[in-house]
Amino acid sequence: MRKQVEILDVPIDIVSSEEAFEKLKTFLEGDKLNKVFTPNPEIVMIAQEDRELARILREADLVLADGIGLIIASKIKNLGLKERVTGIDTMEKLLTYSAEQSKSIYLLGGKPGNAELACKNIEKAYSGIRIAGFHHGYFKEEDVEKIIEDINKNNSDILFVALGAPKQEKWIDLHKDKLNCKIAMGVGGAVDIYAGTAKRAPIIFQKLGLEWFYRLLKEPWRIKRMMNLPKFLLYILFKR
Ligand code: UDP
Repeated sequence: MRKQVEILDVPIDIVSSEEAFEKLKTFLEGDKLNKVFTPNPEIVMIAQEDRELARILREADLVLADGIGLIIASKIKNLGLKERVTGIDTMEKLLTYSAEQSKSIYLLGGKPGNAELACKNIEKAYSGIRIAGFHHGYFKEEDVEKIIEDINKNNSDILFVALGAPKQEKWIDLHKDKLNCKIAMGVGGAVDIYAGTAKRAPIIFQKLGLEWFYRLLKEPWRIKRMMNLPKFLLYILFKR
């Protein structure tokens, strides 16, 4: 039985990283598309106003708590979220598993050149993995049909969509009935990480749940979006 908590009306699955991974494995053995999203407090705040995003998160098959703020909120409200399950760590596990089990992946997103570079690096790091294909994330509406055809004709098991949030969530939702893969997962800036054009926060920041702070140091222009973080905590404390 699926157990979820609601954080400001956004349902999040109560799962540890291990349980999330087990669930993803069962998705890969099934025969339908499973939508997987990893919201953080910023996204939860966007969903307060963007009702379409809120609906999409409600209809997802697995929603993982990516962001220390969600764990803090769960603690304050005693909701029982187990731990943070980040998108990038989950993607890493899926890549390892895909290499072992000969599953195929498709990467959609990032600047032209980056998706290809990311795939090359993934192929090197996860020997045996099947790359079904890739496409950058700056396509036109008229290219979408071709991209979906490419994803389907190469029998992709897992589609990683890295268009940033909430674009990737909406893209997956809009095309869910045409996609033949088993998992479609929004992975934010993952293409840049695998391409090597962006770096993950050092382990110490990751351990302390301060990736957002590292990101702010590296990309100070994100401050406007990140102002959602204190707002999120105020909502948690005072919203009835
Ligand atoms: N991106 C894209 N197409 C777009 C807009 C963005 O492929 O139309 C990519 C962008 O190149 C970057 C990623 O989406 O690789 C967004 O990364 P970010 O870490 O900002 O994601 P977020 O924090 O929004 O989840």
